[in-house]
Amino acid sequence: MAAVAAPDAFNLGFIGAGNMAESISSGVAKSGVLPPASIRTTHRRTDRRLVFQSFGVKILETNAQVVDDSDIIILSVKPQIVKKVLLELKPFFSEEKVLVSIAAGIKLKDLQEWSGQRRIIRVMPNTPATVVMCVGEMATKKDEERVTSLFGAIGKVWTADEKYFDAVTGLSGSGPAYVYRAIEALADGGVAAGLPRDLVLGLASQTVLGAAATVNLTGKHPGQLKDAVTSPAGTTVAGIQELERGAFRGTLMNAVVAATKRCRELS
Ligand code: NAD
Repeated sequence: MAAVAAPDAFNLGFIGAGNMAESISSGVAKSGVLPPASIRTTHRRTDRRLVFQSFGVKILETNAQVVDDSDIIILSVKPQIVKKVLLELKPFFSEEKVLVSIAAGIKLKDLQEWSGQRRIIRVMPNTPATVVMCVGEMATKKDEERVTSLFGAIGKVWTADEKYFDAVTGLSGSGPAYVYRAIEALADGGVAAGLPRDLVLGLASQTVLGAAATVNLTGKHPGQLKDAVTSPAGTTVAGIQELERGAFRGTLMNAVVAATKRCRELS
């Protein structure tokens, strides 16, 4: 019988125990990629500590202890304080540690300068689990594999050159909010067409979920899938004609470009 490979054992630390740290660490813990006891963080607020403790994450006293006790450190504070936090933690980093930043708009070269760390991976996750990763020059293949497995626990992972990161933020980073708007509008449209309020949100969100799953599962172009459900002089084409009149596709394209531009201004 073939020997079963031992799971990769390492400690994972979060600096900034906020919403993203919570969703990543709970995803990692639930998936079994790492035992929860291998995950550590800190927070000055007891309620935040309790949230992380509830799924087995170890709570330490200081950021420095988290760095000291971790092999991979995910930096999950707000972008505005990344520089300050990294400068404070600089003495605690060392050659064998890997720094992973999820902070929007903060570039590899700045992360390296402020932390003194060379093995760095930049990741742009969104809350519904689309993850884009950019691997710094000095990060090893093993670092990349480990970070891919961590973020694979919460979503689908792509790798892209850092020069695409602002546009990634404009598309998949900000994209969930555009889709929430679309779901809200579909639901309101249902109400306008006479449906009861308690029915419309479920119908709208399941429609978006089903359409997205169909694109993913079939690999077909969305235009082809649209053609397949649009019969001559039918109901769907009447709706689509109205979408085109309202510049639906152009508006979504502009939204991605505007968010990309804003991301560039902020970084
Ligand atoms: P958040 O505000 O929920 O979490 C940040 C946490 O850091 C807070 O709990 C805060 O108390 C803590 N904190 C503040 N100062 C600290 C310090 N000096 N040391 C340690 N902790 C400190 O924010 P979030 O939504 O989890 O975002 C975290 C990062 O993730 C940001 O850089 C953001 O750009 C990035 N990001 C967020 C999203 C998203 O959808 N929320 C998506 C992609 C990337």
